[in-house]
Amino acid sequence: MNFDEYFLMDEQAVSAYIKYKTTLFETDDLTVTEIGDGNLNYVFRVSDGERSVIVKHSGHTARISDEFVLSTDRTIREGHLIQAHSRYVPDLVPDIILIDPVMKCVIMEDLKDYTILRTALQDGQLFPFLGEELGRYLAETLIRTSDFIMPAKEKKALQKEMINPELCEITEDLVYTEPFYNNFNRNELSEDLAAVVDRIVYQDSALKAAVAQAKLKFLNKAESLIHGDLHSGSIFINKSGLKVIDPEFGFFGPAGYDLGNIIAHLFFAHTHASSSGRVEQALWIERTLDEVLRTFRSQALSILQRETIDVALRDASIIAGFINEIEKDAYIVAGLEIIRRIVWIAKVSDITSLEDDRTRAETQLLRFAVFLIKYPEQVRAYSSLFTLLDSSK
Ligand code: ADP
Ligand code: MG
Ligand code: MG
Ligand code: MG
Repeated sequence: MNFDEYFLMDEQAVSAYIKYKTTLFETDDLTVTEIGDGNLNYVFRVSDGERSVIVKHSGHTARISDEFVLSTDRTIREGHLIQAHSRYVPDLVPDIILIDPVMKCVIMEDLKDYTILRTALQDGQLFPFLGEELGRYLAETLIRTSDFIMPAKEKKALQKEMINPELCEITEDLVYTEPFYNNFNRNELSEDLAAVVDRIVYQDSALKAAVAQAKLKFLNKAESLIHGDLHSGSIFINKSGLKVIDPEFGFFGPAGYDLGNIIAHLFFAHTHASSSGRVEQALWIERTLDEVLRTFRSQALSILQRETIDVALRDASIIAGFINEIEKDAYIVAGLEIIRRIVWIAKVSDITSLEDDRTRAETQLLRFAVFLIKYPEQVRAYSSLFTLLDSSK
């Protein structure tokens, strides 16, 4: 095999591929295991018993369903996006070893000493640095790829490379349309919840108008190079730090999108913690969200004040307005993400694992989410987003 023409590789092919393509391993005795758990791609661990690497590889359709036909280039773009972000946060992304545009795969660092954040949080773990590190990741990646900092021509060249119509369309449909209209019958609700969703989601025309506005923003606002799928399953963590993986939905979009996803998934984690009686962890998640927002704001402000080159943009009120707008967009996106994860089929285990408390928790989160989408500018009146959640009972 010469690996000069694409085909969908299995374990055996990946083993031959690594030997043919790289000098990473001296032995021919490699173990290859497919460890992917996502919806779209194949993830192989290649090991000689001592060292290991990861090969992420894409097929012509999504792993979960042939219904989603997607260009195999998505993994290539993902590799380049990780490299683009690694200029700003090298310690918060995996090292990329090789990007192969022929075989449509990326060889990267094996993060075997890390755990997926969603799993760690459901396990009851606390990470004192989480809020600050997420805030730093967001500020560094989103602000430094915006027009305030990245030279306009450089940004447009990168934008061309990062154009991502197919995966954007998935977000446009699955986040911004289907949960509110159920046009493909892919919303999945228990009988009790169906009545709630009908009343507070499907029947609310003001909500749908606000969602339409948000959708236009997602379609048009080429603000920053976003991750595009920044949920707690895209974050690896251990006691010493975190790594962000899987930015295949990334493109130049609204900066608030990533922050909004972080907010939404911290609320899911918080719901899991409090419904499971882990009071201390729930309080820590509240502080963590506060730290994400505080760190994002202060680091964004400091980068913008010190490093904005364009005199036309280097204005205190323009800079403040830019950050405020990102936060407001983020509240709306948090609401959208909460709704789609409760209403649409792609549910989160933080919620599906709840037993007796599930419908109550879902109803409260849905009310909270509707408020965020309709009245994002009113969030400031509450001492924290959790106070707002409390008042959504
Ligand atoms: P998908 O795009 O299909 O969602 P992900 O990039 O999220 O794929 O990877 C799926 C799973 O594979 C992750 O949840 C994780 O368990 C494992 N994985 C992915 N990248 C790595 C890595 N660099 N090191 C170790 N495990 C990884
Ligand atoms: Mg994933
Ligand atoms: Mg690194
Ligand atoms: Mg993915």
